Amino acid sequence: MRFKSKAPTRIALGGVAVGLVAGLSLMAGSPWVSTSTAEEAKASAPALSPVKPLSDRDVYYPGTEALAPDEMRVTACGTGMPNARPKQAAACFLVELGNGDKFIFDIGSGSFERLSALAIPFDYLDKVFIGHLHSDHFGAMADLWVGGVIGNRQRPLRVWGPNSTKPEYGTAYALGSMEKMLTWDAASRLGNVNTQGQKLEVHEFDYKGVNQVVYQENGVTIRSIPAIHALDGPVSYILDWNGLKFAFSSDTYPNKWWLEYAKGADLAIHECFLPPSLLVSKQKFPVPDALNVGTQVHTSPSMFGKVMSLTEPRMAVAYHFFNDFDTAPVVEAQIRQTYDGPLSLAVDYMVWNINKDAIRTRMAVVNEDVWPLPSVTPKLPADPKERIGFTDFTTGGRQVFLDVIQKVYDETNKEFGTDVPAPN
Ligand SMILES: [Zn+2]
Ligand SMILES: [Zn+2]
Repeated sequence: MRFKSKAPTRIALGGVAVGLVAGLSLMAGSPWVSTSTAEEAKASAPALSPVKPLSDRDVYYPGTEALAPDEMRVTACGTGMPNARPKQAAACFLVELGNGDKFIFDIGSGSFERLSALAIPFDYLDKVFIGHLHSDHFGAMADLWVGGVIGNRQRPLRVWGPNSTKPEYGTAYALGSMEKMLTWDAASRLGNVNTQGQKLEVHEFDYKGVNQVVYQENGVTIRSIPAIHALDGPVSYILDWNGLKFAFSSDTYPNKWWLEYAKGADLAIHECFLPPSLLVSKQKFPVPDALNVGTQVHTSPSMFGKVMSLTEPRMAVAYHFFNDFDTAPVVEAQIRQTYDGPLSLAVDYMVWNINKDAIRTRMAVVNEDVWPLPSVTPKLPADPKERIGFTDFTTGGRQVFLDVIQKVYDETNKEFGTDVPAPN
């Protein structure tokens, strides 16, 4: 066992060196760490100015920082429970690499608005890896598929996910059914908006594959390992790039494959469900269900700790619980029964910047008034000839105020130098 966080740290306070012990989480590279004299404190203090921006800031403003060629940035876009709430959407993590690639791992209910808050062109958010087919892990897929098109995605959406013991339990069936569910939606948009991005490429693979390569492009390898959760089919993922290793459990009971293949990950994100006591008192579960779901279907906090003490990641990330002022201390105390290494208790918009030397953990501060970015290639208008149109019944109900709408067309054409005729 490692006791990294328990190494005494000295901090200068008014020239007096004070020894600090366990439990204080200090940022790696912080100028306030390991300073023993007033002179050293002065030399390492950040330069302050009443008019210049701070030399360093401890929040991440999306869209304002370059990603270094050797850097990985991971953003939590969903960390909560199947019942998404304003503070926490369901499972979703975005991995961005310094080579320009971006990957979404799980896309649970409510996570689409978090992805859109990151101010990334939707053309870049075109690769999704689903760990299993619970709605809290892929419930926002339709939002990304359709909403991404309205948000200017012109590239097809590529999705990877496991099969199961029956075809109807597999990813291809689930997404094929989603397409069917959206038949009216897709038909209604033909000829009204450019739908070239409303294409789905589904790559279903064997859930039993152990360390099986499911994606390999541009120096990035993503492998799947089996996970144990609720029903056969779930998998966990391991991404390797540029000497960095990212592991994502999706949902799983502790298992031998994770311990072998996620070992030593730079960032290891593993589910950590609410402990049974909180499932009863907060989530209102009956006790037998709280014990079963909290410890057998999912990984409980002390089991998460056990898993991480064997995984030994550079940073362990616990997610899949409502992370509040009164639950976090309970969850953390149980994790600390079995693990004493680096730990993040994830909440939505937590961000990790990772390179070979350091891992920096911050919160993103997002613009709630965010608008979509343009498509990567110029966006073509819809082809009106593709419109399905209305029956005579519906057309017969139209009240056409041509004098009003003509003015809208005239003003818009004038503003943009176009010549689109108003229909009558
Ligand atoms: Zn699940
Ligand atoms: Zn889940």
